[in-house]
Amino acid sequence: MNLTKNFLDDARAIEDLIIALRRSIHSNPELAFHELDTARLVGDELKRIGIRVRAPVGRTGVVGILEGRAPGRVVALRADMDALPVMEPPGLEFASRKDGVMHACGHDGHVAMLLGAAMILAKHRDDLHGTVKFLFQPAEEAAEIGGGARPMIEEGVLNEPNVDYIFGLHIFSNFPSRTFALREGPLMAASGTFKIHIVGRGGHGSAPHQTIDPVYVAAQVISALQGIRSRMLDPVEPSVVSVCSVHSGTRNNIIPDDAVLEGTMRTLDETTRKRVASLIPRIAKSVCATYGARCEIEMEDAYPVTVNDPAVTRSVIDVLKSIPGSKTVVVPPLLIAEDFAFFLREVPGTYYFLGTRNSEERCVYPNHSSKFRIDEDILKYGSASLATLASNFTGRTRPPPS
Ligand SMILES: [Zn+2]
Ligand SMILES: [Zn+2]
Repeated sequence: MNLTKNFLDDARAIEDLIIALRRSIHSNPELAFHELDTARLVGDELKRIGIRVRAPVGRTGVVGILEGRAPGRVVALRADMDALPVMEPPGLEFASRKDGVMHACGHDGHVAMLLGAAMILAKHRDDLHGTVKFLFQPAEEAAEIGGGARPMIEEGVLNEPNVDYIFGLHIFSNFPSRTFALREGPLMAASGTFKIHIVGRGGHGSAPHQTIDPVYVAAQVISALQGIRSRMLDPVEPSVVSVCSVHSGTRNNIIPDDAVLEGTMRTLDETTRKRVASLIPRIAKSVCATYGARCEIEMEDAYPVTVNDPAVTRSVIDVLKSIPGSKTVVVPPLLIAEDFAFFLREVPGTYYFLGTRNSEERCVYPNHSSKFRIDEDILKYGSASLATLASNFTGRTRPPPS
């Protein structure tokens, strides 16, 4: 296939269909591992355009396989399908029909854009070298139950044929509409959670000396944990330790028996992750011991760092820059986390953002807000970018040096 070709005109020709698909998915949002209607819609669309379908994969996932006429590389494109437990306010004609469930992270757009890319590539199948796999993944948002990328990988979506490159895309309100944003190397953080159960000894609020006050100890633990970020790590190495939930006590004059803190940690490299993971229990235990309390600590890793392959990503930047009417910017890493990281551990590739901030269309609220809105004008740029990357990278004769 012509490597210099971009598919914006093809995407423009099917723009109405891409938008209609996005609206249909938006009105029927489904939570992690419950994406049954979405998976059915995806499977039907892929079959309609002559793409072979494998489903279900990874519980509720769908894989489409498009073989070109000539040999070439195997490229995977991934879209996540799940919605969030968010109540959508009324207003849009295609608003969620399900109470308390909303596509508030743009995954409806991801599915529609990837279906658009599949239509474009299927139309040009005769010119396509190699194979494109379309991965429609469940449960990206469900880090607490491991996410949907891992079960898909375990069920072999990266094998037979083996995937050479993988690309994923996320709609993001941080960036202006029609802006592609990415970087080589670490793009998003490793995330992990912690839960600290502080056990003291309750009593009367007027006589703290007869108690071991877990509320006071919890306050000291929260403060001390911030010393990790400010005093114990390289200040130019990004990381976050946030205590986001504090529970203790029942009324104003009873010192309770215990307190529970829960929080999240985010890091951008493995050494820092290990150091933070070892410091949290060390600090919590020693602070508790200082005041005679004890603590139990549970820690869990969620997603690893999302690392874009440097050589591939430099090529991706060139390809994205070829799409007229869009802008491509290199951005600093973000401390959000994504289970696309698991794919990038197996196969070189790139994850990138497509901005959707547009004040004229009132698309100004952040992802996960109940007011989050997609500027639908961007969907064709997303489809064009995915199709262009797939055709470009399937046509490569050998992988670029890493
Ligand atoms: Zn999200
Ligand atoms: Zn998302």
